[in-house]
Amino acid sequence: MIKQTTLIPKTYHGWEVAKSLNTIIEPMNVRNILIVADPFLVSSGLITQVTDSLKSYQLSLFTEIDPEPSLALGERIVNYTRNQNADLVIGIGGGSALDLAKIAATLATHEGEVSRYLNLTGDLKPTHKGLPKIMIPTTSGTGSEVTNLAVLSLAHSKDVIVSDHLLADVALLDPSLTVTVPPRVTAATGVDALTHAIEAYLSINADPITDQLALNAIELINQSLFNAYKNGEDQQARTQMSYGSYLAGIAFFNAGAGAVHALAYPLGGQFHISHGESNALLLPYVLTEIEVSAESRLAKIGEKMNLTLTGKSVNEAARMTVLAIQSLLQSINIPSSLQFYEIEQRHLTNLATDAIKQQRLLVRTPKNLTENDIFRIYSAAWHGKIELLQN
Ligand code: NAD
Repeated sequence: MIKQTTLIPKTYHGWEVAKSLNTIIEPMNVRNILIVADPFLVSSGLITQVTDSLKSYQLSLFTEIDPEPSLALGERIVNYTRNQNADLVIGIGGGSALDLAKIAATLATHEGEVSRYLNLTGDLKPTHKGLPKIMIPTTSGTGSEVTNLAVLSLAHSKDVIVSDHLLADVALLDPSLTVTVPPRVTAATGVDALTHAIEAYLSINADPITDQLALNAIELINQSLFNAYKNGEDQQARTQMSYGSYLAGIAFFNAGAGAVHALAYPLGGQFHISHGESNALLLPYVLTEIEVSAESRLAKIGEKMNLTLTGKSVNEAARMTVLAIQSLLQSINIPSSLQFYEIEQRHLTNLATDAIKQQRLLVRTPKNLTENDIFRIYSAAWHGKIELLQN
């Protein structure tokens, strides 16, 4: 069987590397740059770290970014970009800004509404890459700077646009841009990255390349997430989280994310829980449910998390790993029950009905999950008890 691993874009990285953006752009031979920026970067003045070196270019700024952007916002930014004369799009912000920037850059040069390019319901696929793209993440989470997809929120769930034409030409990792991320967002986005790495490692499509990327990411994130959460200015922790989320992004883009994401999408769509927190809350529940089908790989994750596993059987090691992940989440105050979000028990059936539609994600999970299994996972997560899933 032939495997393909995509290891682009060209990446520039290092503390304050964003200040040298002009030297990166110079060979691209462009004049008019559209910057799609998270509004916090503008209100805080952080954006100047990027724009100060771009004074010789014609700049326009789009900052109407909502977290977990809707399809309507996707349509708006594409229409806006079609009316600009941009020859380069720079996305700067969390996954929400980067996804919108990727959609804008690619679909501005295509015909048709954004809805027609959605994975579940669309009838079109991008045919070319559109405008060149530079992606600069300011949260350490989604890995959008290296993935070929963009996520949009719909009325009940989420959907994606997936195409290699969405891939950035350049990713710029500057961890200094992440020091202002507040603890709650640091926690949620950091566990999002951890989830990408774990799901990529457990994916039935994993291969030796994605395995190394995923395990490295798990090690870096496990070492640094608590420190980044406790002290946002911890340069080493922020730097490790930037690399960790980047590696996790390449790993899951190639090997695929799985059931945690499938169950998280309806929580985002129906209850507007952030992507990071939806994944984070569900992670130990889904891992407990699929544990029997992934024991040796979970044990390997435990080794990377520095657990003492000598003398333990593989199933003991797998259980210890899931519990270690759960206690990492507790240490950074990730909610452990759906009731935290005032979700009523009667909503669980609808959540399961929407989650089972995410077959793109569910098929990569090592255990085949039925709608009933998914309902039980939501139910355990509602009660806040992973033990409800053991046998
Ligand atoms: P986000 O982009 O929504 O940002 C979360 C919050 O952090 C926002 O309030 C934002 O203003 C703030 N923020 C961003 N940078 C900051 C900084 N430097 N300092 C202070 N505050 C800052 O959150 P996210 O988790 O990065 O992205 C979530 C979106 O990405 C969702 O729509 C999700 O579905 C999507 N996603 C995409 C991919 C992909 O591969 N394309 C993967 C996973 C998730």
